[in-house]
Amino acid sequence: MSTTFSPPAAHHADLDERIELILNEVIARNPAEVEFHQAAREVLDCLGPVIAKHPEFADHKIIQRICEPERQIIFRVPWTDDRGEVHINRGMRVEFSSALGPYKGGLRFHPSVNLGIVKFLGFEQIFKNALTGMPIGGGKGGADFDPKGRSDGEIMRFCQSFMTELYRHLGEYTDVPAGDIGVGGREIGYLFGQYKRITNRYESGVITGKGLDWGGALVRTEATGYGAVYFLNEMLRRRGEGIEGRTAIVSGSGNVAIYAIEKLHALGAKVVACSDSSGYVHDPAGIDLELLQQVKEIERARISQYAERRRDARFVAGASVWEVPCDLAVPSATQNELHESDAVALVKNGCVAVAEGANMPTTPAAIRVFADAGVAFGPGKAANAGGVATSALEMQQNASRDSWTFEHTEARLAEIMRNIHQLCDETAEEFGAPGDLVKGANIAGFQRVAHAMVALGLV
Ligand code: GLU
Repeated sequence: MSTTFSPPAAHHADLDERIELILNEVIARNPAEVEFHQAAREVLDCLGPVIAKHPEFADHKIIQRICEPERQIIFRVPWTDDRGEVHINRGMRVEFSSALGPYKGGLRFHPSVNLGIVKFLGFEQIFKNALTGMPIGGGKGGADFDPKGRSDGEIMRFCQSFMTELYRHLGEYTDVPAGDIGVGGREIGYLFGQYKRITNRYESGVITGKGLDWGGALVRTEATGYGAVYFLNEMLRRRGEGIEGRTAIVSGSGNVAIYAIEKLHALGAKVVACSDSSGYVHDPAGIDLELLQQVKEIERARISQYAERRRDARFVAGASVWEVPCDLAVPSATQNELHESDAVALVKNGCVAVAEGANMPTTPAAIRVFADAGVAFGPGKAANAGGVATSALEMQQNASRDSWTFEHTEARLAEIMRNIHQLCDETAEEFGAPGDLVKGANIAGFQRVAHAMVALGLV
């Protein structure tokens, strides 16, 4: 293949070295963005055989282009608290890739948010969204705002100020945000309301995760947690095993964790522990979902409150939830929450499968421990893709002014998760790494985006 704007592809032997050079350049160009480096390394590590098979990807510098966001927006978010005091936060939106569709990905409000975190999330989102097979590009945004302890009025004023800047970059064909940590139904409502007011457009498809009365879709709330459990089920089925009768741990206690627990229980597992940033609860009788929702979603309280109201449950402050023995693990809290020592403990306790409900919750060293021990491992960009896939179904319903039943939508979600698992599994096999779903997901996701980028030319 000839090209006028780059040197010919390297010989096979030089490939990994060339990819290493690209990664080093990415790291040098984006100093201090350690989570972004981690996410980029994981994907680039898998790409040697892809470039060998498709030298046109190297000719077109697809890897270098994919690692550079199409657009990065950083802005000031001023707001006043209930006492009238002024606060300033930093908002951002990284529009990473629109090769497959409008930028799509959530907004995270958490004090830890910085550009490196938003870029790691946006980068993951490109490949996750590609794996769904739906027409959505990748993006992510958020703010270093801490919603903890804030009143409804404060949350609303923050969301309105945030959207007053961001709205000009959004649109149903341009960039479509949704929720993530710290952004749920309430925040999506305030954000959409402000967008509607400023633009004077009832543009339902501009944001997903909406309430059912104003353009939202059934199953979106449950989708990430349900999807992760469907994916886990597929991994187990592939090994001739199942979920029923197993003991499970789901870390976290937010939206993903709650619906992962619900689906695990529905499929006959018993979830005995979950957590928040203060510690974990161990409930040998199985987590009482209603009580957990009361504590976390309605009262927005600490998880110790759960143990206080539940006989035989205990709260363990400041410790790792992964010390509790289990067969199945669904890390659903946040990035880098499951460390090498946790993985060693899980393996020792007989854990057979791990599906990531959160984005990049397992550290690279912990992933190696699972791989060496033969534990089935489903990476987040595949296992938690059910959330964004259902966002795409919400967009589809908004575009057609239709609303689907719960059953229909859930069946679509289940089918999408099965397809993602199959695609990752077959791709891993094709590239000589049977059972390695990390490789399968990275390669399959990358290939979809790369083919589209080649087709669309140098843009
Ligand atoms: N924040 C979710 C994710 O990590 C959902 C994004 C969306 O629905 O756009 O995939």
